[in-house]
Amino acid sequence: MRILLISDIHSNIQGLEACLAAAPPYDSAVNLGDLVGYGASPNEVIEQSRQLGHVFVRGNHDRVVCGLVSVKDFNPVAGLAALWTRDQLSSDNLEWLRGLPQGPIQINDVPGAQFVHGSPLNEDDYVISEVDATAPLTMSSQPLTFFGHTHLQGGFLSDENGTEFFQPTYSTVGESESCELALEDGQRYMINPGSVGQPRDGDWRAGFAMFDTETKVVTFYRVPYDVRGAQDRIIAANLPVRLATRLAAGK
Ligand code: ZN
Repeated sequence: MRILLISDIHSNIQGLEACLAAAPPYDSAVNLGDLVGYGASPNEVIEQSRQLGHVFVRGNHDRVVCGLVSVKDFNPVAGLAALWTRDQLSSDNLEWLRGLPQGPIQINDVPGAQFVHGSPLNEDDYVISEVDATAPLTMSSQPLTFFGHTHLQGGFLSDENGTEFFQPTYSTVGESESCELALEDGQRYMINPGSVGQPRDGDWRAGFAMFDTETKVVTFYRVPYDVRGAQDRIIAANLPVRLATRLAAGK
């Protein structure tokens, strides 16, 4: 079974469309949260995402946009975008967002795996370093965790020797590329498919991943998308300009 893993779309319909066009055939799609916030196409992203499948985990931006959590904890730019998004969303999409489940979640066909937004220990935690990853890797009931939230493609693995960071390697800066990681028995993994709509690892291309449950291979993808189109919409919506410029830098 092949599972499409997408995360942190952040209302970037151009990024999402490029990922879906580049993705090989899959059996099921899992969305790791933050569908909205920052970008300027929230309704389109939710509608497209709802057509992909029914497995979702809520993100922190999803919670703030639909009013489950106060906007006060957000920095001013994120807060402004969240309030703008709330205003734009159809009542149906807002209601749907409110019903998204908190991670970790599991799915029947993928034993040993769990899906979260931040960390299996706390949905709002950022797992950026080996130190951050050690507790969730060792304390999790499941050996394999797929997570998002950091907008950094790659992840962590741990065995008796400790915790190690890994990052996919690519050879171009602007072409469509993929990179495979074969999972090994006896190791524990935390894997981030990358951000569809606002990458922060210095690579502007939209990121996603595919997990083949039979071969135990995770394939990471980076695909070019219409950045200018996404930026134009952000500017036209009068959202902070920084939200547009950062897309081109991938930061
Ligand atoms: Zn996010």
